[in-house]
Amino acid sequence: MQALQTTESTRSDANAAASARYRNNFLKEIEAQVEDGEWVKMCMQCGVCAGSCPLGSHWEHTPQKIFMMIRAGRRDDVLRSDSMWMCTSCYNCVVRCPRKLPITQIMHGIASYAHKLDLAPKMQPTRDFSLLFWNNCTKTGRVNELKLTLGLYFKDGLVAGIKKGWSMRNIGLGLVKAGRLNPFELFGGHRCKGQQGITAMLKKARDIEDQRKRAIS
Ligand code: SF4
Ligand code: SF4
Repeated sequence: MQALQTTESTRSDANAAASARYRNNFLKEIEAQVEDGEWVKMCMQCGVCAGSCPLGSHWEHTPQKIFMMIRAGRRDDVLRSDSMWMCTSCYNCVVRCPRKLPITQIMHGIASYAHKLDLAPKMQPTRDFSLLFWNNCTKTGRVNELKLTLGLYFKDGLVAGIKKGWSMRNIGLGLVKAGRLNPFELFGGHRCKGQQGITAMLKKARDIEDQRKRAIS
């Protein structure tokens, strides 16, 4: 709990620092801190992405609106938006954008940045799943389906987890019988052979990303 609070306070500090550093220039902040963020200024607000997105009409902010809000400096509205977390990576917007913006990557990049600054909406299901999935697979280089499933079931507490597990018991038993779910995965589980290589690769990716940010900002 204390570690979690420390992380949250570190993120709040990061938000305050970023806000002060890029004051009144949210576009510059996005260009520096978000993957492919330098593309946002190329948007000509044609609306093709908003019209092409199969889910956009159900979101508060379509990609077109998000890009407009970035340029208008609406930092809080963008970073606290739920909409980036709803993107399913179908790439429909990307193939149809006349300016060839990597819209999907930008949407995910903004979501990731909002999470780093602790501004992402709390209890957002996609965010919760992303965190569980990332923590699960980067530990060993392989996804442990049993731990991932249990993590999802019990994320809202013990009682809610037991209820969910009970309601899904027939499917779980079916998976065990079919050899698709091994209860012993709970006590360790399979892992990739070159685990150190995975750790080194992730570190390298972080270094490259940090270098890119330093070069732009
Ligand atoms: S389709 Fe491309 S240019 Fe048009 S609004 Fe969307 S991002 Fe902007
Ligand atoms: S990639 Fe995301 S933003 Fe683009 S059309 Fe698909 S769901 Fe919408």
